[in-house]
Amino acid sequence: QVNECDDMFLLNEIMPSRSHSRASSNVRVLGGGQLGRMLVEAASRLNIGVVILDIPEDAPAKQIQANYPHISGDFKDPEKIKELAKSVDILTIEIEHVNANALEEIKKETNIAIHPSPTSISLIQDKYAQKIHLSKHNVPVVDFIEVPTQNHIYPAAQKFGYPLMLKSKTMAYDGRGNYVVKSENDIDQAISFLGNFKTPLYAERWAPFKKELAVIVVKSINEQLESYPIVETVHKNNICHLVIAPAQVNGAVLDEAKKVAESAIKTLSGAGVYCVEMFLMDEGKIFVNEIAPRPHNSGHYTIEACETSQYENHLRAILNLPLGSTALKVPVSAMVNILGLSSNLEETLRPAALALTIPGATVHLYGKKECRKGRKMGHITIVANCIPELYKRLTPIIRAIDENDA
Ligand code: ATP
Ligand code: MG
Ligand code: MG
Repeated sequence: QVNECDDMFLLNEIMPSRSHSRASSNVRVLGGGQLGRMLVEAASRLNIGVVILDIPEDAPAKQIQANYPHISGDFKDPEKIKELAKSVDILTIEIEHVNANALEEIKKETNIAIHPSPTSISLIQDKYAQKIHLSKHNVPVVDFIEVPTQNHIYPAAQKFGYPLMLKSKTMAYDGRGNYVVKSENDIDQAISFLGNFKTPLYAERWAPFKKELAVIVVKSINEQLESYPIVETVHKNNICHLVIAPAQVNGAVLDEAKKVAESAIKTLSGAGVYCVEMFLMDEGKIFVNEIAPRPHNSGHYTIEACETSQYENHLRAILNLPLGSTALKVPVSAMVNILGLSSNLEETLRPAALALTIPGATVHLYGKKECRKGRKMGHITIVANCIPELYKRLTPIIRAIDENDA
């Protein structure tokens, strides 16, 4: 007689080949940062084993499944990627700056499933190629133009005016590949900041947005899309600082943002979650800023605020399990990042200590040993029954972060 209330029985029935004993042949992830850590958290609840490839032995994602055969190495190293791909069902990523060519080769030589597809990863790695792709598929993006040499900046500025956004095509994150050129006098400094063309550049027309919006979209193996609520994101020094879910905009804007985001994700191959970052313009027009082919900072709030987190739905999608509901299970939610102030971890974590005293707040710390200025060390999610209650809970935390920053 089988006890149907036995969790192990149920899980093994649902996922017969995914019990703990065979964990090392389950999901393998390129990258072991905080996104990988939260993926492992979701995986462990479902008896899904996760093996991580990243350089540090104590990478945030490795720490919490410490007895797994993780690999120490670079997610750009083809040999290490091959080692990760040995006797495995599914490969995925938690960072897009991996060696996409190595993944493409593995895909050709083996029948390992790779999600998202190496083609999607390499397209997204190059923001200029990404913009060409999106505009070819009629997804609205701001005007952009290639800038192969310094001489190409002047006609670009003439066309788009100042301020002009100069961007690195590749290896860009947290705004490190961006420079706002306010006048011709800034051009030399912009070029030197962006590495003197060692990584290729392009320019974008400045978008005087009213708000920035973002949405996590899940794509199942058979290409079914499910969107999470549209959220509002506020950036500080180009880094995501605050997320409000749902975005406080009218229904027509929510519908349009969802339509635009899904039209973008339809053009990409491979299952899993994607994030679409967008600009909301004054007249209600939406532009896609960029896509991330993985769980995203603007979706951390889904852990506490949605029926299924972005991390769990990423796993469900790539493992061909039923997708979970993306609906909010609380009326409103917010997320704030805790960025390193200096090498002083205690000082950096002061807002997190305060959050422990606030109802509806959940603290996530990433286990990073070294605290550095601007480094993502953790985040706080707040849930509430209405916007005034959310702001009441959020305000002291934001104030503590601002005081820390001052
Ligand atoms: P991420 O860490 O999200 O990958 P990133 O380094 O790829 O960031 P972007 O997303 O391109 O950088 O830009 C960072 C921020 O800079 C945007 O969220 C937005 O606030 C601002 N920004 C980017 N492009 C423009 C633009 N064309 N006009 C105005 N602001 C912009
Ligand atoms: Mg980016
Ligand atoms: Mg971005």
